[in-house]
Amino acid sequence: MKIYNTLTKRKETFVPLEEGKVRMYVCGPTVYNLIHIGNARPMIVFDTVRRYFEYKGYEVNYVSNFTDVDDKIIKKANEEGVDSAEVAARYIKECKKDMADMNVRPATKHPLATEEIDGMIEMIHTLIEKGYAYEKNGTVYFRTRNFKEYGKLSHKNLDDLQSGFRNLKVSGEEEKEDALDFVLWKPKKEGEPFWSAPWSDGRPGWHIECSVMSKRYLGEQIDIHAGGEDLVFPHHENEIAQSEACNGKEFAHYWMHNAFLNIDNKKMSKSLGNFFTVRDIAEKYDLQVLRFFMLSAHYRSPLNFSADLMNAAKNGLERITTSAARLKAAASNAGELTAEEQEQLTAAKAYVAKFEEAMEDDFNTADAISAVFELVKFANTTVTDNASGVYASALAVMLQQLCDILGIITEKKEEMLDDEIEAMIAERQAARKARDFARADAIRNELLEKGIILEDTRQGVTWKRA
Ligand code: AMP
Ligand code: ZN
Repeated sequence: MKIYNTLTKRKETFVPLEEGKVRMYVCGPTVYNLIHIGNARPMIVFDTVRRYFEYKGYEVNYVSNFTDVDDKIIKKANEEGVDSAEVAARYIKECKKDMADMNVRPATKHPLATEEIDGMIEMIHTLIEKGYAYEKNGTVYFRTRNFKEYGKLSHKNLDDLQSGFRNLKVSGEEEKEDALDFVLWKPKKEGEPFWSAPWSDGRPGWHIECSVMSKRYLGEQIDIHAGGEDLVFPHHENEIAQSEACNGKEFAHYWMHNAFLNIDNKKMSKSLGNFFTVRDIAEKYDLQVLRFFMLSAHYRSPLNFSADLMNAAKNGLERITTSAARLKAAASNAGELTAEEQEQLTAAKAYVAKFEEAMEDDFNTADAISAVFELVKFANTTVTDNASGVYASALAVMLQQLCDILGIITEKKEEMLDDEIEAMIAERQAARKARDFARADAIRNELLEKGIILEDTRQGVTWKRA
């Protein structure tokens, strides 16, 4: 398997630190708003990377944080007159809902920055002891020039960086020893959340959280560290400096970065105001379409969002789900596998091989999807009315397996109609009246599986969609 490594600017063969295992960390969102579809790109892309590793038999330990303490969260909390923890908790919940609707699996662990402050204080302490950090008036800075390999990820030269920084004075940080130094810990300001630390009552800088959470949940060395390409500098460069200075070992072996999701060829971002939230898109499309759209481009290519491309993704997805449904229906056909069908199955395996070849080449999902379309076309032409159930079913399994790697759900969601729900509730009431509680519970569970939640209130039974 080949992975493009930002560190070496080359595609490299993947060799895990520990055989059969992948330790992977993906920088997650800052939670002060609903996520936009630019934020969704790394979620979908790296979830697909994880799924492919699992398909290949690896055990993946996948960690992705939520940044739940940050200037923007505090600002939002102050505007609303609530606690910043309340704002963060609200948007973490919403983000998890969006992830589920995009079929992005929960990480093995989703650490929260605010729950890892002790670890951050400990790492900062070690960095000070080792001479890589210093305190000035309650603020702790990283002594960038002491980390000799600084710039190795972003391929920046320290002197070029220095001249870039000269004109860029950050107010309140004039006390730094060097313009390149960055904040590890800062004292609280009025109205901000804070934690006690040896240097001041305050809060951590942004970069330290990922170094600490990655170490805690994955160990000092990891296989893959990932995120959007805007994180290469300074965030990931600073993470490397902190982790390697503290642990004395290479931090991550492979650094993967997705390109931007653009709109009118400009990066979609909250600060530019040119964004759609995942929730906006959910009003018009099933979020499977969004997922399929994202994977229709290679993750390192910029992707321009447009209604045309979304509609093309919708049609493409429908071709796949329609074919999958037809294969499933034909799977109940009678008859044995014929010699011709046997040959066709062998031929169909070529599309699976093509799919794998694309994924092995730095997760080229665009080419992998082309292979899926070829399989669909092959299935549509070879599964005739006379096809045997065994043949149709074998193709159905093949298609399903590829869709599972992409995280595409092939079963068309059938929404329950209100009438159907009411009828089942009435049946449940009747069962309860007859003291058949097992049946009543079974009906409740059946509805729950279909996303309908029942609540028994004094006024009777009410229901809502999950
Ligand atoms: P943030 O909340 O801004 O820290 O972003 C969370 C993740 O989304 C990071 O990995 C970012 O690099 C990524 N991201 C933000 N905007 C975009 C975009 N327009 N396209 C692709 N990735 C993005
Ligand atoms: Zn990070």
